[in-house]
Order: sequence, then C-alpha cells, then structure tokens
Amino acid sequence: MARRKVKKIKQPTRKKRFPIFRYIFLLLFLVGAGFGLFYLWNHPILINPSKSNVSLGSNYNPEDAISFVFFGKKEDVKIDTDVDANTLGEYKTKYTFKDYSITVPVKVLDNTPPVLKLKEYTTDKKEKVTPECFITDIKDVSEVTTKIKSERRRMDGTYKVTIVAEDAYGNKTTEAATLIRKNDKEAPKIEFLTEKGIYNEGEETDYLDGIKVTDNFDKKPTITTNADTVVNGAGEFVITYTVTDRSGNKTTADFPIVINEIPEEEQRIVYLTFDDGPSSNTARVLDILAQYNIKATFFVTGNGQNYNDLIKREYAEGHTVGLHTYTHDYAIYTNEETYINDLQAVSDMVYDLIGVRSNIIRFPGGSSNTISANYNVGIMSRLVNLVTENGYYYFDWNVSSSDASGNNVDVEQIKAYSTSGDAYDHIVLLMHDTDAKDTTVEALPYIIEHYRDQGYIFKGLSYRSPECHHGVNN
Ligand code: ZN
Repeated sequence: MARRKVKKIKQPTRKKRFPIFRYIFLLLFLVGAGFGLFYLWNHPILINPSKSNVSLGSNYNPEDAISFVFFGKKEDVKIDTDVDANTLGEYKTKYTFKDYSITVPVKVLDNTPPVLKLKEYTTDKKEKVTPECFITDIKDVSEVTTKIKSERRRMDGTYKVTIVAEDAYGNKTTEAATLIRKNDKEAPKIEFLTEKGIYNEGEETDYLDGIKVTDNFDKKPTITTNADTVVNGAGEFVITYTVTDRSGNKTTADFPIVINEIPEEEQRIVYLTFDDGPSSNTARVLDILAQYNIKATFFVTGNGQNYNDLIKREYAEGHTVGLHTYTHDYAIYTNEETYINDLQAVSDMVYDLIGVRSNIIRFPGGSSNTISANYNVGIMSRLVNLVTENGYYYFDWNVSSSDASGNNVDVEQIKAYSTSGDAYDHIVLLMHDTDAKDTTVEALPYIIEHYRDQGYIFKGLSYRSPECHHGVNN
C-alpha cells in the first residue's frame, strides 16, 4: 500500500499545462501592446495641460505644451491657434499630426499684481482712513480690491500704513504709505448760497439745500438747525445752523428764511382744541405742545381764574386763545342778551390778560346742543347768525376725544377716539382742559405723534381756518 502511494506522487501531468498560461499571458501582452500602439498611432501628440495657460502680455508659444510626439517630431505638428496673449480670455489651440488632431483650451490669465501710486495723506485724529485716502492711481487689467492692513494709532504724528491691493486673479501688491495725523482745531466753514431761504408752508423742507459746508479735514461735517423749534407755520424766521466736524470744532450761523403761506384749505391740518380751561393741567398741555413745537386753541372760561396767567402764556407761545363762556352755565341761553353778556365778560377777561380781542368762539355744548332748548327754543339758530354778524367765527368739532364723558376717562379710549379722524383733511379735535382731565394730558403726545406721522400739521384756529359747524338742533 505504501509503495503505491509513492508512485502516485511522481505523476508529471501539471508540467504539461504550465506553458499554456505563459502563452496566454504573452498573447494578452501582445494584444495589449498592439492596442497601445494602435492608440498611440491614432493619438500621437502628448499635451501637458499645465503648460497650456498663458500669462497676460507674455509670448505664447503653443509648442511648449507638447510633451511628446510619437512616431514623429514636434516640428512636424501643425498648430492652429486663436490665442491673443494681450487680451484676457479663453482660447483654443489645435494641434495636428498626420490624420490626428487635438484641440486644447488655452486661458490667457492675469498673473501680474496691481501697480499702485500712493501719496502721503494728512488728516485729523478721528478719521478712519481708507485706501482711497492714499491711492492716486491703480494699474491692473482686472478689478482691484484694496484694504489697509495696519492702522491702529489715532494720535498726532507720522505713521506708516500698509496698503494691500489684490486683483481679481489673486495677485497682490503690498506697499507702505505715509499717514500724518494732526490735532484739528479749525472749525468748518458755512456758506449760504442764497440771501434767504424760501419755502412753502406745510411742505417738507430740506434746510440743508441752500448751504455749502467745508472743512479742512472732515468732508462730511454734521449739520443741524434749530428750525424745528423756531419755524411755525408761515412767516419770516431766523434759523441757526450748527456745523460740527468730527474733531468737535463748531461753527454756527444764522440764516433768514421765509415760509410762504399756503391756504389752510389746501393743507392737512389738525386743530387741537382745549375747552373749559385754564386749569391745573394747562401748564402740562402747554409743555407738551412746546415740546412738539405745535400750536393749538384754548377755548377759555372765567371759571379757572387762579390760572389766568396761563392764558397769557398760551398767547405768548403762539396759541389761539378762543372764547368759550365766562360762567359755563347753560342759563346763558335764556335769551340773546344773556348769551352776549356772558360772551362779553369772557372777552373782556381775555383782553385784560393779553391785550387783544379774540374773535374765535365756541358755544358751550357746541352749536348743536339741545340743552339750550330748555331755556329758549330756537335760540341756537338765532345765535349762530348773531355772533357771525358781530364778527365772531364759531367753531364746533368733527372729532371728539370723548374726554367729556366723565372724569379721568381711560387713556386708551381717549387715544382711540382722538385718532379716528384720518379721513378728514381738517380735523377739529375736541378736548378739555380741566383739573380732572389728567388722562387727556397723558394721551396728548400719542395723539400728536399719530397725526404728525400721517403728515398733518397743527395749527391754532383763526378766521382763515376752514369752517367747522354742526347742524343746529335748536
Ligand atoms: Zn365747555
């Protein structure tokens, strides 16, 4: 058994098969080489793509991109190119050898950093300098962005500032410029281009239109005027300009302006009216009106004479002092005579305070009141004619604040009622000025801002104001 096994091991059958693999490998190699040669025969030009881009303005030699030519020489390759090395862009170069041709894209690129011309720049201690302060000229074929690399100190002295300019292809130039900072003590100059400013009432006015401001260092000094506190309605005013440079140097100059009157009918106006004062609240109302620099109308009575000095203040601050009633007792409607006597009493009181007769009135309860019928039926119909014949202008209202509905009416209610007049071009707003009307005062700034934001202006009533009359019911 053991001998048989040895015999079997000696069998040589594998030796015969081994060369077949060699032949297969050889055959595959030859086939591969054949294909390779066949490929090279058909694609004999080897191009190095990294050499096919060109620097702007350089000499372009398309032959440089040929790495090798199989079965031939570089000189045998026919080259067609549309490359213009002096113009940025994308081009094509065509290489032809025998029947083979290959077209290679060629980019003419910018590899040249920008060329800068810099100047020394002198300024104050405040300016944040920009590259534009120093650069007088930039040369580059593409768009250049510039920045300042180091600019830290803001003191008197001479500094080096590093300017970096980079073109659209990432080519960078870095250069130093000289910055001189000085302690600026020179104030800006202001020049008026006309003798006086002429504007129209109620129009948006740009008081900076007619002036020219210059400064040694600051190209945009801050300009302010006190026009908001000085100008009111039509008339002649003198406004003061204040020009401040960034180092804090200041110039002020006065300038006369004329605001041409525009008929009130053509403007959008709110006439704030306060009945029944003066009172402990009058000063607060006047303060708010002054804060907004707007004018209103006070229909005063003889019932708060402890505060009569405030009627003087109303007048002095440009408000309209209108006549309401001396007693505020509806018995004044007993007959024409009792009404006129009461009106005359409050007129005299006001005249004694301000030295002027007021011709602006408001009937207690308005011309539409029906309480007067308890005293005299039909008297309102007669009174509206009588007062008009006597040279008075009576005004009712078209918007009510509702503050007469009780004492300390909810502020939100007063705001809502008072700001409901947006549909009117001319709003006569009824409010009250008495000790108990604190919430009216609280709502007032909101009401003013609401209408101001809608483009209304505010005026006191006068004979020029549009009529505002209720239908008379008695
Ligand atoms: Zn009243």
